[in-house]
Amino acid sequence: MSDTIVIIGAGQAGGWTAKTLRDKGFTGRLVVVGDESWDFYERPPLSKSALQQAQPPFSPLFSAETLAALNLEWRRPLRAEAIDRAAQEVVLSSGERLRYDQLVIATGGQARLPGREWQAHPRVYTLRSWDDATRLRAGLSAGQRVAVVGGGWIGLEIAATARGLGKAVTVFESQPRLCQRSVDPDVSSGLLALHQSHGVTVHLNCGAVTLDDQQGLALIGSAATEQQAFDCVVVGIGVTLNSELAARAGLKVAQGIVVDARGRTSDPAIFAVGDVAQHPRLGLCLQSWAWAQNQAIATAAAMRDPQAPEYDDGPWLWSDQYGHNIQILGLPGVADRTWIRRQPAGDVYFSLDERGRLTQLVSFNDPRTVKLARRWQASDRELDPAQLVNPEFSLMSLK
Ligand code: FAD
Ligand code: NAP
Repeated sequence: MSDTIVIIGAGQAGGWTAKTLRDKGFTGRLVVVGDESWDFYERPPLSKSALQQAQPPFSPLFSAETLAALNLEWRRPLRAEAIDRAAQEVVLSSGERLRYDQLVIATGGQARLPGREWQAHPRVYTLRSWDDATRLRAGLSAGQRVAVVGGGWIGLEIAATARGLGKAVTVFESQPRLCQRSVDPDVSSGLLALHQSHGVTVHLNCGAVTLDDQQGLALIGSAATEQQAFDCVVVGIGVTLNSELAARAGLKVAQGIVVDARGRTSDPAIFAVGDVAQHPRLGLCLQSWAWAQNQAIATAAAMRDPQAPEYDDGPWLWSDQYGHNIQILGLPGVADRTWIRRQPAGDVYFSLDERGRLTQLVSFNDPRTVKLARRWQASDRELDPAQLVNPEFSLMSLK
C-alpha cells in the first residue's frame, strides 16, 4: 500500500479525496498542492449568496476540527508545474520535487475569456474562485449597468443575482438559446421567459462579442446590438479544463482526463477526480458539484480497495435563480420529445426517448418529482406523457 499520496488541486474534489482516504484508513503522508490560499471550499455560493451580502460567509468544505484531523501536509499557494512519471514525482513552482506512490489530479478548470484584451480591462470579471467573487462583489457596486457575456448556468445565476441587487442586466449569448449545451429548447424558452419577466434584456445569436474602452467604461458590441457602455461586464462563456499537466505527462486526455469507473487514469498510479476527469461512460466532463464530490469519494475508496464499487452516476445539477430551485437530472437526447407539466409552484419538463423512457428531467421547485425520476431512470420505466402533463394526475402513484 502507498506511503505517500499527493493530491494536486485543493478544490471540492481534492478535499473529498483527502477526507475519504483518511476515512478509509490511510495513515501515510498526504500532501495537498493548491494554488489558492484557502482551505477547501464550496463554489456554488459564489454566483449566488456570496455576491449578495457585504460580508458573505465563506463556505468551507469541512469544519476546522475535521480539517485538522486529516493531518494534511499543505503546499500552498503553489502550483504543480509538471509530473515526472518515471521518477513518480510532482515538480512544484517552488522547485520542490514531491515523490508519490499514488497521485490524484483534481485541478478543475479556469474561466475562459473571448480574447486577451478582456483580461486587462478593469471593468471585466470572471468567476471561478472566492477571490474572483470578492472582486466581482466590488465591481457590481461600481454602477448600475451590468453586461453578462454567456447565457449558461453561471451567466444566468449572475444575471439573477445582479437583478436582485437592482442592477440593469443585459445578457449576450452567442447561441440561439440559453443553456444550449445542457437542456432542450423548451427548457431554454422557459429560462428566457423567466429572465425577461424579471426585466433582463437577453440578446441571443449575438455572434462574437467585442470589447472597447470608453473612458474607463466597457463598451460591448455584438452582431445583435449597437455598442453599449457598461459599468461591469461578467464573462461566463465556459471553462478551459486544467488537464495540461496530465497531457504533458503523457496521460490519455480527451475532453478531460480519461478515467475508468474507479477514477484511474491510463497510468495505474495516477487518478483524476472532479471537473477535470471525464465521465467513464458518457465521454464528457460533467462539471457539477455532485460529480466533484461523489466521483472523488468513490475514487479515494478505490485507491484503498481496488474492489470498491465503481462510480457511474449520470448528470445531476441544480441552479438557484430568483428564488426558484431548478434541478436538472440526466441529459436530453437529440431525438427526444419534451412534455411540460404546468404546476402552481413551477413547471417540470420531461424529455422522453422514443420508447417513453426519461432521458432528462428539469424541475422548477419540485424536488419530490426529481427523487421519483431517479427511480424511473434506474428501473428504465416507460412513462405515459398524458399522465405526466396532467396536473390532476398524482405522479406519486408512479412510485
Ligand atoms: P475546482 O473546485 O475548480 O478546484 C480545483 C482547484 O485546483 C482550484 O483551487 C485550482 O485553483 C487548483 N489548481 C488548478 N491547477 C493547479 C495546479 N497546477 N497546481 C495547484 N493547484 C491547481 N455545480 C452545481 O451542481 N450547482 C451549482 O449551483 C454550481 N454553482 C457553481 C457556481 C460557480 C461560480 C462555479 C465556479 C461552479 C459552480 N458549480 C455548481 C460547479 C461546481 O462548483 C464544480 O463542478 C466543482 O467546484 C468542481 O470541483 P473541482 O474540485 O473539480 O474543481
Ligand atoms: P457553459 O455552461 O459552457 O455556458 C457558457 C455559454 O456561453 C454557452 O452557451 C456558450 O456557447 C456561450 N458562449 C461561448 N462563447 C461566447 C461568447 N464569446 N459570447 C457569448 N456567449 C458565448 O459555462 P458557464 O456557464 O460559464 O459555466 C462555467 C462552469 O461553471 C461550468 O463548469 C459550469 O458547470 C459551472 N457552473 C455550474 C453552475 C450550476 O450547475 N448551477 C452554476 C455556475 C457555474 P457555446 O456552447 O457555443 O460555447
